[in-house]
Amino acid sequence: MSQPIRMCINCRGRIEQHSLIRLQCIDGEVRPFRQNSGRSFYICHNCLEDKKIMRKIMKICPKAKFQREDLLKLVEETMS
Ligand SMILES: [Zn+2]
Repeated sequence: MSQPIRMCINCRGRIEQHSLIRLQCIDGEVRPFRQNSGRSFYICHNCLEDKKIMRKIMKICPKAKFQREDLLKLVEETMS
């Protein structure tokens, strides 16, 4: 059985959807993906350690006041 493949916004690696972190930008804030509306994007686990990841996220969600700690918190939420 083949899994859906999605692309990480940072490394552009094509990875199985279930092993990516899916976030979205709603009302200028970065949130875990919860609903089917709005733009969502994917980050792979390797890229969480990448310094460029914050810049990539800010490009998608420019108004967000979003720090690295917030990203790690979101990832925890997404995983639980
Ligand atoms: Zn990646």
